[in-house]
Amino acid sequence: MQPIDQPTPTVSPAASPGAVADLIAMLLPARRIVAFTGAGISTESGIPDYRGPGGVWERKAPPTLGDFLDNPETQQAYWERRRFTYPALLAAEPNVGHLALAALERAGRLIGVITQNIDGLHQRAGNDPDRVVELHGTAHRVGCIACSAVWSGAEIQARQDAGESFPRCVLCGGALRTATVLFGESLPPDALRRAASLAQACDAMLIVGSSLVVQPAASLPVLARERGAKLAIVNRMTTPLDALADVRVAGDAGPTLAALAAALGT
Ligand code: NAD
Repeated sequence: MQPIDQPTPTVSPAASPGAVADLIAMLLPARRIVAFTGAGISTESGIPDYRGPGGVWERKAPPTLGDFLDNPETQQAYWERRRFTYPALLAAEPNVGHLALAALERAGRLIGVITQNIDGLHQRAGNDPDRVVELHGTAHRVGCIACSAVWSGAEIQARQDAGESFPRCVLCGGALRTATVLFGESLPPDALRRAASLAQACDAMLIVGSSLVVQPAASLPVLARERGAKLAIVNRMTTPLDALADVRVAGDAGPTLAALAAALGT
C-alpha cells in the first residue's frame, strides 16, 4: 500500500438535492453495482478517518512495514496506542450508510463491496462476508509474526486490559501484529484479485468516503471506468478522480446512501 502525493483537497458544501437526484438517476438502471468504500463511510459511526479534518494522519501517521518489523520500540508504541484506540473500533456500530449498502445487496442491486476499511462494519451491517473484499485487511484479527498463530482482536485487548501493555505470542514469544496492511506492504493477492474481478464485472461503481490517494486501491475505480462502468463519488471533499466521475455528491455518506437505497426500492 502506497500513499501518493496530491494537492490539498478542498471542502465542498453540503450535498445538494440535485446531486443526490443525479446519483439516483445514474444508479436506477444499474444491475451490478459495486461499492468502493473508504474510512469516510465510517466517520458517522464515530471512527476517525485518516485524511479528513481531525483525521488520524494529523495526529500520528501509522508505521511503515519496515519500521514495524525492524523496531521493537515501534511495535511497543503501536500496541500501547492500540490499547486505547481499539475499544472504540470494537464498540462502533454500522451507520445508515453501511445499512443502505446492505439493503442494496439484499435487493439484488449490489454485487459486492470493495473496502479499504479495517473495521468490519460492512459485514456487521448485513453484507454477505463473502461479497466484502477487505483490501487492507482487518483490525479484528491478530497474528504472530514468527509462528502465524491467530487470535481475535478482543482476546488480545483483554490481555492488554489485564496489564500486558506489550503483548507477545503466548506460544512462541514472537511479536504480534494485526491483520492489516501497513504502508510499504503489498496487498493480499487474493483480495486484490477479487477486487479487480468486481471492478471489471460492475456496471456502476459507487465510491464512498475515500480520499482516493492510496495505491493500488485507487486504481480500481479507473479499471472499472475503463471497462465501461459508470462512476459515482460521494465525499465531503474533492478527490483526484472527480473528473472521471459521472456524478459527484459533495456531502455526508449516511443520508446520501439512505436516500439512494430508499429510491431504489429496498
Ligand atoms: P482517508 O482517510 O484517506 O479519506 C477519507 C475520505 O472520506 C476523505 O476524503 C473525507 O473527505 C471523506 N469523508 C469523511 N467523512 C465522510 C462522510 N461522513 N461522508 C462522506 N465523505 C466523508 O481514507 P481512505 O481513502 O479509506 O484511505 C486510507 C486508509 O485509511 C485505508 O487504508 C484504511 O485502511 C485506513 N483507515 C480505515 C479506517 C476504518 O476502517 N474505518 C479508519 C481510518 C483509516
